[in-house]
Amino acid sequence: MIKLHDKFFKPYLKEEQILNAIAKMAKDIAKDYKDEVPLFVGVLNGAFMFVSDFLKAYQHPCEVSFVRLSSYQGLTSTGIVETLLDVPEEMEGKSVIILEDVVDTGRTLKQLVHLFSNTNVKEFKIAALFYKSEVYNGEYPIDYIGLDIPDNFIVGYGLDYNELGRNLREVYQLNQANMINIVLFGKPGAGKGTQAGFLKEKYNLKHISTGDVFRYNIQNGTDLGKLAKSYIDRGDLVPDAVTIDMLKDEVEKNPDAAGFIFDGFPRTAAQAEALDNFLESKNMRVDATIALEADDDILVARLLERGKVSGRSDDQDESKIRNRFDEYNEKTAPLKAYYQKQGKFHSVNGIGEIDEITTRLSQVIESLD
Ligand code: AMP
Repeated sequence: MIKLHDKFFKPYLKEEQILNAIAKMAKDIAKDYKDEVPLFVGVLNGAFMFVSDFLKAYQHPCEVSFVRLSSYQGLTSTGIVETLLDVPEEMEGKSVIILEDVVDTGRTLKQLVHLFSNTNVKEFKIAALFYKSEVYNGEYPIDYIGLDIPDNFIVGYGLDYNELGRNLREVYQLNQANMINIVLFGKPGAGKGTQAGFLKEKYNLKHISTGDVFRYNIQNGTDLGKLAKSYIDRGDLVPDAVTIDMLKDEVEKNPDAAGFIFDGFPRTAAQAEALDNFLESKNMRVDATIALEADDDILVARLLERGKVSGRSDDQDESKIRNRFDEYNEKTAPLKAYYQKQGKFHSVNGIGEIDEITTRLSQVIESLD
């Protein structure tokens, strides 16, 4: 086990396994390109070791260059904004093969494909040393693959965790053993957001509120925001397919989180199942679902009060609030049984002083093994 910054990582791939995979890639690429002079383009920073070992294994005429992408981790309709800092020159008429250290969701790749599709290259291919086929949702096929790996956060062999770990000769994966993932459950107005704010500080967790992500997208006029707006304005749930993909994206953006608080998700049986399957594929799980209980009349009064300050249209009209409760009773309340069956359901009285309620929630979290 090694420690980088605040996290522990365990050995995952030995140097020999990596070099064997690279030798095989070099052989496959040579089969296709040894009679011409391809241009290999490494994607910095992560691919520098891969490019070096790849070229040692590829002993045929070739050229090499690099691109560098910087990713801004803000929320946009695509989830990411990429800025290209360096474009290789003299690409016209050449066969370009991108050497990428790791391909996961395919966001970075999309930008690369877009960039190179505007050039006059003869051919454009992608070679990925590590490929997370489980989470890849790009349209572009990966032409050469080193190793197909599960979707765990990895470091070493060029890959970093907040810039550390690039110089490791082997690949390590994040040790998830101490992760805590909590679902905060409860009707609108039960105090999930407020409590999540305290719990995330106390336990160093990442808070994901699907309602907040939707509102952020609405404010920024993204496609997702435009789609969600009409549902939210009426107090209806946004369709599962949209919400589930968005939630996955939010989790993917925080590969190094010590755990998550899911607030406002899952809200339907399909979402709960999707969450379980998704977390399982990442070697993670929901540790507890904690419901904040309060009765409807108190909640309506709280929401109308909040609506005066927050400006949220769905908090200003009692009929919309009641519709959100109906949605909850019909679609979300049955999840109680789903989590009870798994032995993960806990109920907490949501009426009282804010810090009292935080204490009640903390007691549940600290009782988990
Ligand atoms: P909230 O801030 O959690 O009360 O969410 C506000 C609104 O966003 C809800 O009334 C829904 O329209 C939408 N929303 C938030 N989370 C979900 C979800 N998990 N599934 C479907 N719709 C959601």
